[in-house]
Order: sequence, then structure tokens, then C-alpha cells
Amino acid sequence: MNISTTLITLYWILVGAAVGSFLNVAADRLVAGDSLLQPPSRCPSCGKRLPPLEMVPLLSYLALRGRCRTCGAKIGLRTLLVEAGSALLFGLAALSASAAGRLAWLDLLFTSTYLAALLLITVTDWEQGLILDRVTFPALALAALDALRHGWPACGWRLGGAVIGAGLIALIIYLVPEGMGWGDAKLCALLGASLGLPGLWFTLFIGFVSGGLIGGVLLATGGAKRGDRLPLGPFLTLGGAVTLLYQPQLLTWFNALSKLF
Ligand SMILES: [Zn+2]
Repeated sequence: MNISTTLITLYWILVGAAVGSFLNVAADRLVAGDSLLQPPSRCPSCGKRLPPLEMVPLLSYLALRGRCRTCGAKIGLRTLLVEAGSALLFGLAALSASAAGRLAWLDLLFTSTYLAALLLITVTDWEQGLILDRVTFPALALAALDALRHGWPACGWRLGGAVIGAGLIALIIYLVPEGMGWGDAKLCALLGASLGLPGLWFTLFIGFVSGGLIGGVLLATGGAKRGDRLPLGPFLTLGGAVTLLYQPQLLTWFNALSKLF
């Protein structure tokens, strides 16, 4: 890895950590229906406004050992996980966008924005069982812009991906009404629109297989009961993130694999 790729990746990891910090706030405020911009960040327990030094991504949480400096109330571990996860995803996106030897800036910006949206969807679906239109719709608009940037026929593959993604989940909702929700359908439209075909197939494969595996393990170990609802969103977003970052490698493996049969 050359020096400029290393520097760009390090810089983008820092940007990712800062974005993660924003995603934590956004997850709470969007679910509550509050404004993203106002009021400034406060401790949810004592209400003290947080000074900049207590809002440094990753470092503040670690330095304060996960507690508010004023009242000692616990700050959820999710804060740290989302900041670290976002930093990691942005770092991987920078590496992926530099894979061709020079940095594809626009690709990096779009991929990072999709990854941030997927992380936010993961948090709200995991914690509240909600995939919010206020996240999926702006991301879909961005994906439309991204599709236009790629011109024909990529545009067609992405439109097809969006229609098939949403249609497939709509079919599942029709067949098994309790299984999934319309939030999942809109998420799959987003995944199809941002990845196109065949990216959507990889995403759905990874999503359903990982969801099935984790669900099976939870059932087997007593972590969940039959009839418990395991949100599918976080597994679809996992599939989406892996595909966004490693689509060329997935295609190579798939082609190699299909030659064996
Ligand atoms: Zn406090």
C-alpha cells in the first residue's frame, strides 16, 4: 500500500468515527421524531450540555469509561460500537476505492454514505424494529443520482435491482404476513438501487444465510424462543455492506465456483 493510500485511509477512518458519533445521535432523534440539528447534544440522564471534549468520537467514551462525567450515568455500549463500526467501514471503503491504484473519490463518497445509512438502519431496526423512511428515502434519492452517474446500462441494472428487491419482500409479506415489514421492502429497494444486479443477489444471499444461521444458533442455545421476531434488517444491511465493499471479489469467487459445476 503506498503512502497516499495509507494517509487517505487513516483520514477517512477519522471521518468515519465522527460520522458514527452523528449516527448515534441520529438514531435516537429520528426514532423519537426529533430534529437532527437542535438542541445541542446533552446527557439524556442529567441534561447537561456536552462540551466538545466529551464528544470526541471513540476517545471520549474510552476516557470516561462509558459514563457521563457529570452524573455518572452509563452511556450505552452502542455509542462505542457504532463509532468504531463506522470508522472501520469507512476505512474499508477507502481501501476498496483505492484498489485500482488511484482513489475513486466519487465512489468513496457514495459508498461511505450508503454504509452510514445501512449502519443507522441496523441500529434502529435492532433496537426498535424500525426502518425509518427518513433514512431510506433520502438514501434512495442518492442512489438514483448515483445510478445516473453510471449511465446506461448500469442505470437499468440498478432500477431492476430496486424493483426486484422491493417486489421480492412484498411477495414474502403477502405469503407470510408476520415475517417482514414494509421497512424491509424499502431497505431492499435501496440495496437494489445502490448495488444493482447481480449485487442484490449477493446481498440477499448473505443476508438470508447469516440471518438463518444466527436465528438457528439463538434457537438452539435458548437465546430466542420459537415465535420471537428476529429483525431481518441488520442481516440485509450486513449483506449490503459486504457487497458494497467486496463486489468484485464476490463476482470472481462466484465465477470460479460456477465453473466447478
Ligand atoms: Zn449526565
